Amino acid sequence: MEFSEVCRYFDRIEKVSSRLEMTGILAEMLSKTDSREIGQIIYLSQGTLGPKHLGIEAGIGEGLLVQGIAKATGYPEDEVEKLYKEIGDLGLVAEKLGAKKRQSSLFAEKLTIGKVFSNFTKIAETEGKGSQDSKLKMFAELLNSASGTEAKFISRVPLGNLRLGIGDPTIMDALALNYVEEFLLVKKTRGEIDAVLKEKNEEKRKEEFGRRARQKLREFIESKYNIFSDLGEIAEILKKKGLKGLDELSMQPGTPIRPTLAERLPSAEEIIEKLGMCAVEQKYDGFRLQCHKDGNRIIIFSRQSEDMTPMFPDLVEAIRKQVKAKRIIFEGEALAYNEETQQYFPFQVTIQRKRKYGIKEKAEEFPLRLFAFDIMFLEGKDTMPLPFSKRRETLAKAIGKGETITLTKSIETNDPKKLEEFFLASVENGLEGIIAKDLNAPYTAGARKFAWIKLKRSYKGELSDSVDLAVIGYFKGRGKRTQFGLGGLLTAVYDDESDMFRSVAKIGTGMSEEMLSELESKLSRLSQKGRPARVDSETEPDIWVKPFYVIEVRADEITKSPMHTCGKGKDGTGFALRFPRMIKFREKKPEESTTVKEIIAMFEKQGRVQLQEAETAQEKTQ
Ligand code: ATP
Repeated sequence: MEFSEVCRYFDRIEKVSSRLEMTGILAEMLSKTDSREIGQIIYLSQGTLGPKHLGIEAGIGEGLLVQGIAKATGYPEDEVEKLYKEIGDLGLVAEKLGAKKRQSSLFAEKLTIGKVFSNFTKIAETEGKGSQDSKLKMFAELLNSASGTEAKFISRVPLGNLRLGIGDPTIMDALALNYVEEFLLVKKTRGEIDAVLKEKNEEKRKEEFGRRARQKLREFIESKYNIFSDLGEIAEILKKKGLKGLDELSMQPGTPIRPTLAERLPSAEEIIEKLGMCAVEQKYDGFRLQCHKDGNRIIIFSRQSEDMTPMFPDLVEAIRKQVKAKRIIFEGEALAYNEETQQYFPFQVTIQRKRKYGIKEKAEEFPLRLFAFDIMFLEGKDTMPLPFSKRRETLAKAIGKGETITLTKSIETNDPKKLEEFFLASVENGLEGIIAKDLNAPYTAGARKFAWIKLKRSYKGELSDSVDLAVIGYFKGRGKRTQFGLGGLLTAVYDDESDMFRSVAKIGTGMSEEMLSELESKLSRLSQKGRPARVDSETEPDIWVKPFYVIEVRADEITKSPMHTCGKGKDGTGFALRFPRMIKFREKKPEESTTVKEIIAMFEKQGRVQLQEAETAQEKTQ
């Protein structure tokens, strides 16, 4: 496909104001590509040069981008810089200058998606001495042949964000739209959908049939994505073999599985009421790692499915030594351990192990311990459908003796008192709390279910847990904050049913002066004129931004509010956070923010806890 055509679609997607339209345009574009191109378009549309877990980056910083734009358009660098300061988006700068180039190139050629992608792949692979010059040359070569609009998107690739606002769910919806006809060729599928709609009258049934079919297919595609986190390859398989191809797709060491997630409950009683007899494990405050072993090859993925292997030579070594299985995928939480005091270091210390340089020294200073808690794959077999108790047994057998990798400390109980004691002991040992696990539940990749329930240290008078919110806009600073260009944030939770972001809080506290400037420089690059397509908010910020950054926020409580659209019902009231304050940036995708459902559940739980606390206080005074 010609790159100019891809850019025409990208341009339409960038400007569209409804998610439905966005999905439709994306589906149309994907339907016109061939199997070689479809993956490339998907990766590029997400601002990457391959599946996220491979972490392929162009390695062109802003400085080099400015040089490249100047070189290709014939404008001096300081003019490019000046324009960049004015409009805050190098893509727009390239578009503007690209459209009125001062020099015409002798070697201009028509760009195709394949050419753009392969040039960027070469740019990414270029390393070592003189690499910056080579990168610059290849990048300028692309710009040389580009029109204004093409230059805009080409220049945004190295920045890792094309500003299209396309998330994984939109891509999956677009694929579902394109393959629903094939899906409905199977009689059994049609029958299953008909059965669900049996009760409805003829007209309603007709109306809902298509929607249900797409939803069902989307669930199927997502179930595959959950065990094989590479939408580019999934789309390619679909192009080559249709839905049959997806049937054959199974998990493989080397490709991350989307992690299962924990629900919350506020007390030991409620956990036991929900699960009955359950496993209760210590909750370690480190980072979650997914370890893959395929013979001699060991790969360690983060919670966000990024390859972190080079950061943890001590763990790679331990996996080699302690894990006897040839092919295995298992998960655990890694924590820095103080050999001298025999205690775990706090998170602030553990996090120092996430680094690109000085790895060996830090590994010696703060060796990690890995607490294994689940297993998904063993010697070619998918262990996810097994009940948790069986998986734990399998995991215990797979991990050999040694100090570095051990299983999480755990008890089994159906007694709230025992659970509470174990919780208090964990907190006393400096841990975060506990996670209770349903002994009979399978491993549900990519889902937050009551198979895992977390209970954390409670902060009296506050929400017992922080929430993660996507930033959807900001307010210009006033008074003392004028200098930072940012005074507050408009934030949203994620509505996973409709793939929308719904507003929940305006946040003006918790940010240091450094954070304010960092926020402004990060957010101004994502600004756009109107409300982004996947955002639902009645509160208007001074500047809208596409959901991209996620921040951790603590608040006093959740209240009903007419100001926000999170959970807004027919009565016109939604939910809001009371006294929200920003804690830090989170390395999460916006779709991994706290969901509307979670906020509603937290609101309901909070009511019960407050009632219980009031009752206890009353009992004490009697
Ligand atoms: P999310 O639930 O989205 O991961 P989060 O990053 O805020 O949100 P928590 O709310 O702290 O995570 O709780 C879940 C995390 O707890 C897991 O992802 C894992 O990293 C960590 N964890 C620590 N100990 C355990 C354990 N024994 N079993 C499972 N997870 C554990």
